[in-house]
Formats: sequence, C-alpha cells, structure tokens
Amino acid sequence: MLTLTCFEIMKIVVLTGAGISAESGLGTFRDKGGLWDEYKIEEVATPEAWLKNPELVLNFYNERRRLNNLANPNQGHYALVELEKHFDVTVITQNIDNLHEKAGSKNVIHLHGEILKAKTEELSEKHYPISGDIYLGDTGEDGKQLRPHVVWFGESVPLLNTAIDHVADAKIFIVIGTSLNVYPAANLIHYTTKNCKSFLIDPNRVQTRVKNIEMIYEKASVGVPTLVNKLINTYK
Ligand code: NAD
Repeated sequence: MLTLTCFEIMKIVVLTGAGISAESGLGTFRDKGGLWDEYKIEEVATPEAWLKNPELVLNFYNERRRLNNLANPNQGHYALVELEKHFDVTVITQNIDNLHEKAGSKNVIHLHGEILKAKTEELSEKHYPISGDIYLGDTGEDGKQLRPHVVWFGESVPLLNTAIDHVADAKIFIVIGTSLNVYPAANLIHYTTKNCKSFLIDPNRVQTRVKNIEMIYEKASVGVPTLVNKLINTYK
C-alpha cells in the first residue's frame, strides 16, 4: 500500500500501445489480422523504405491518417481523462493516432510521432499540422519533400529521455495494450523505482521480465475504467 503525505498529488505515468486504440477500430500491428499481416515493416516504416518507394510509404500513412480521422476514443481513453482529474497523470504513448487528445488527455508524450503532423526530409524541428493526404511534391518551408512526423524503425526516439524521467518519478505506472516488442519503448518499464506500483492491462499474455507488476487480463475498454475507479477509491 502506498502512503501519501498531505496535499501531495500522486504522479501516475501511463504507457499505451496500439491495443488501447484497437476497440476504436485502429488495427494493432502484431495481433492476428493486424497491420503487419497486410504490410511488411521494412517496406513502409523504415528510412530505407522511404528511399526506395516514398509513394508507397506516403500511401500507407495517408491511409492511417484517414482511418485516424474517422476513429473515436473508447472507454479506455476516456478513463485516463477521468484519472487526470484526481492525479498528476502523464500519458506516454507509442501510438501515432490522436485519440488520447481527442478524449481530452492533457499531458501526452508521443514517443513515435503523430500522424497529424508532417516534417521534411531535412528532419528539422519544424512540424506542420496535416489532416489530409501528403503527396510526392508537397514541400515544407525549406523546399524539401514532406514526410509523416513518425519515428520509423531504425530512427532515434527524441522524446525517450523525457519519457524516462517521467517513469522514474512515477508512484504508479500503468501499461496498456502493448506487446512490449518495440524498443526502446519497451525498456521504459525498467525505469520505475522500487516504491512504484505497476499494472499491465492487456487481454493477452505479454512477455516481461518485470516481476512486481499486476497483470489485468482485460480489453482496454473494461480494464482501464475498472483500474481507474479502484485507484480513485483507494487513494482519494
Ligand atoms: P502491438 O501491435 O505490438 O501490440 C498490441 C498489444 O495490444 C498486444 O499485446 C495485444 O494483445 C493488445 N491488445 C489487443 N487488443 C486490445 C484491447 N482491446 N485492449 C488492450 N490491449 C489490446 O503494438 P505496440 O506494442 O503498440 O507496438 C507497435 C508499434 O506500432 C508502436 O510503435 C505503435 O506506435 C505502432 N502502432 C500504432 C497504432 C496507432 O497509432 N493506433 C496502431 C498500430 C501500430
């Protein structure tokens, strides 16, 4: 049982993956029928793919953006907004969709980028809001081709250290809907301190070497609201 001193607002860090958006109609990558059944990672989500066939890469992400625009948050996303009303919550998401923001979450760190932003091949810090398709020939202010603001496999993760600092500060760490197969994001779970209580919500068994973690075998739409209610009733 965690103890709190008076007036301290407990810091809760949440790590989400594709699974939290599955019930909103956005496919995960590794589940049966997931995106990697349809596409090969190396053909659409790597710098090499971009050099070889940028049109295919743009089409793949244009399709992701169209689906994102049609999707709505589910009870899992909304429960995290409720959590924010009671605790100091930071959501670290591996997702490129904007469903946490659409639900109303305020502190969201997109480790792997955002589908509703573009940047140029120059990889400058400048990001362009984008809600429609990107085509070959679309350029940024530097005259270079626009690409999605997404971290591809093999690229560095600029927000990793910020995410690590949040996890190291957490009193409660909640992992939702990630196979913990994509690194370095999967390593975040190892940065919790020994006083931190951790939970993992996923309908399927997720392999992890972390021992002190409470497994909740539920879909996000059920498991997240249940855990959020439990945390509010226990600590508020
Ligand atoms: P993953 O596909 O590897 O794993 C998804 C996990 O979600 C699995 O463990 C699965 O059991 C679980 N899951 C399935 N349905 C669920 C549900 N209803 N509720 C809770 N959990 C459920 O996804 P990942 O670990 O996030 O890694 C894949 C990478 O692909 C990430 O980098 C992510 O950015 C990217 N991705 C993003 C989106 C998105 O933005 N919505 C979609 C697909 C992939």
